Amino acid sequence: MSSKISSDILKSKLLSNDDLKEVHHNLQTDDLTDLMYATFLHQKLNWPMLSEGWKGYQSGEYKKYIFGWFLIKTQFNPTRFISSSAKVDEDSIKKRKCFLCLKNLPKEQKGILFNNDLIVLCNPAPVFNEHFTISNVDHKPQEILPNVGKMLRVANKLNNEYTVFYNGPKCGASAPDHFHFQACPSDELITEKDLLNNLSKFNLLVKGKDWEIRYIKIDDYLRNTIAIISNNPILIEQIFLEIYEKLKKISGSNDEPMMNIFALQRDKEFYFVIFPREKHRPDFYFAEGEENMLVSPGLVDMCGMLITPLQKDFEKINHNLIKQIYNEVTLDKEKFSYLLDYLQTKKF
Ligand SMILES: [Zn+2]
Repeated sequence: MSSKISSDILKSKLLSNDDLKEVHHNLQTDDLTDLMYATFLHQKLNWPMLSEGWKGYQSGEYKKYIFGWFLIKTQFNPTRFISSSAKVDEDSIKKRKCFLCLKNLPKEQKGILFNNDLIVLCNPAPVFNEHFTISNVDHKPQEILPNVGKMLRVANKLNNEYTVFYNGPKCGASAPDHFHFQACPSDELITEKDLLNNLSKFNLLVKGKDWEIRYIKIDDYLRNTIAIISNNPILIEQIFLEIYEKLKKISGSNDEPMMNIFALQRDKEFYFVIFPREKHRPDFYFAEGEENMLVSPGLVDMCGMLITPLQKDFEKINHNLIKQIYNEVTLDKEKFSYLLDYLQTKKF
């Protein structure tokens, strides 16, 4: 496509400040979070697919499961059926039209530009009140390595209002062929609260002058989780690169090691939290008959909110099944210990 045509398409997908001021009179046009909130208000009014999806989210049901000091929630949300049951193998992806490419967006779906290469859009099947997809304006593969710095820049601009997250192409992204982050309101991800409110539960692994690496293991948290904390985004990138390379070696594959990530900034500190994965979907997902359960964990689920699009699964799920799901999809215990041992000896 010529760059003229693609820039015309981009222009047609952007909301103007005037569009946004119609729904948000006191819009602060230099504040990304205010622009995002206005985008959400605008799209909920003007895009029927979103207002339907949002109603679905609003009528969602929840259950809580207490595991000592932390909890896991389940959300019954039928509008997530398409996403949870999406075929994400290469063949199926090649055959379908990419739903994040600007030229394929529904007519009413529009957003705002950030950083000249990202467009902030509303997710039409939200699992949060405001649920954004922050996708690349061009069709580029979902990969984290070249985009860590960008993720931290987004986190910086979202400050206390929203949290940015990433699903790997093989463990949660329903568009593995088109680069995108997502964002949700701050405090909605359960692990975010667990970490900020109970930092000491996340063991200190190594510490430098202005950075530290913390972790928590499956035995204490059902999931193996690692957090890089620093006020220096360049250091976070360097440490992440080490983790990435080690995970790649451990996995024995040339593909991006499976992981889900969220990032936020509080005061001056960035928190970059990684859930390394063993696999995408638990065995229940592929089971026949009674045994079958439609759970397809991405970052939101790894953070402690399991989305169940089917009522039968929402009714059936219990403490043991929750443990089993996480046990299968989180990175294997020994591999995780191996990663921690390696990081402990590493000089940053
Ligand atoms: Zn695309």
